[in-house]
Amino acid sequence: MAVPKRKTSPSRRGMRRSHEALTHEAHAECPNCGELKRPHNVCGHCGHYDGREVVPVGKALKAVRI
Ligand SMILES: [Zn+2]
Repeated sequence: MAVPKRKTSPSRRGMRRSHEALTHEAHAECPNCGELKRPHNVCGHCGHYDGREVVPVGKALKAVRI
């Protein structure tokens, strides 16, 4: 089994992990209800997209999918 010759120093480890930071999840405000939603997606709160109701309110999104 290949074994590293040297212990990874805290500095090297930090340099490697400098790219591991998580980015903020994209979000946008729903123009209809004001709830936060994912961009280019139907609002999970009111079921609106592009100014019209796409998914009937009160029903789960899974039930509507065909
Ligand atoms: Zn909405």
